[in-house]
Amino acid sequence: MKRRDFIAGIGSGAALAACTSATDQQSTTASTERVNWRIVTTWPPNFPGQGTGVNTLARYINELSAGRMTIQVYGAGELIPAYEVFDAVSQGSVEMGHGAAYYWRGKSEATQFFASIPFGMNVHEMNAWMYYGGGVELWREVYEPFNLYPIPAGNTGVQMGGWFNKTIDTLEDLRGLKMRIPGMGGEVLRRAGGTPVNLPISEIFTALQTGSIDATEWVGPYNDLALGLHTAAQYYYYPGWQEPGPTLECMINIDAWNSLPDDLKAIVSVSCQAMSLDVISEFMARNANALEQIRASGTDVREFPREVLSELKRLTYEVINELAAADPLVERVWTSYRDFMMHARGWQLISEQAILETTSL
Ligand code: CA
Repeated sequence: MKRRDFIAGIGSGAALAACTSATDQQSTTASTERVNWRIVTTWPPNFPGQGTGVNTLARYINELSAGRMTIQVYGAGELIPAYEVFDAVSQGSVEMGHGAAYYWRGKSEATQFFASIPFGMNVHEMNAWMYYGGGVELWREVYEPFNLYPIPAGNTGVQMGGWFNKTIDTLEDLRGLKMRIPGMGGEVLRRAGGTPVNLPISEIFTALQTGSIDATEWVGPYNDLALGLHTAAQYYYYPGWQEPGPTLECMINIDAWNSLPDDLKAIVSVSCQAMSLDVISEFMARNANALEQIRASGTDVREFPREVLSELKRLTYEVINELAAADPLVERVWTSYRDFMMHARGWQLISEQAILETTSL
């Protein structure tokens, strides 16, 4: 997209003034120009964890720039609907967006590897791949045709497998199951004989309570407790095979990004990293508390049988291999992802995993 189209797309006078003035001093180090941007998110306003994380990001940028750069945060639906974030930032109607890359698999199947795939990498491995394994460079290559510059900005850590009203003892128990589970996890459930559905956050609880769905996954104890899911289902299964460590994203319109002076670029990048630490730390602390409350409420917290996980993993690889065979870009991203994961696992198993296993000693 040409720069003038982007400017035209911005529309608002204040944002236009900020962008045109910033253009004149590209690649300078510091300036006194003020930059006022908007960020649209895929989360409900002030949504605990993900949404409040974006508020934190905006605050870091404002404070580190001593007020030279301000970011106004809009939750889903406040300016545009959640699923229009990618297009709005791509077209330049707003400068920034926050979400998760697997929401955009309709744009390219390659996007979802930069958020999470079933049986994929956890938060530590994702961060290592992003920053030291070529992940972020690949991600920028995938988003570049859409005029977007992505930066990792948060991670929920491993999720929970979901809420069920019957036990899952074999793969057969998933047959005929209507479950809210989006993305590649949903496709895997479909191949196991289930019916995946996608629902907006606001409808998940009622759908489960009234039995219009049999099961749902959402995030983890902190977010799930807030939604009241423990009062609508008896069994809470782990692990979240479908989302082992979803990276959240800050996406920036490339023309807007290029208009920033170098110091503001650095401030935005570092603020995203700081936010990532903040979000994962908050999830670790709050999930631990929420899990205790969920257990105390009488919920039966259970592990999926290994045989079920093994079958779901086999189906996952079937899905990924089909996507990779159909699209050279998916093949490239998957190769990088898979190689890094296998490489990292050799170390993880004798470090983090080995220490966690001493818990029961
Ligand atoms: Ca989820």
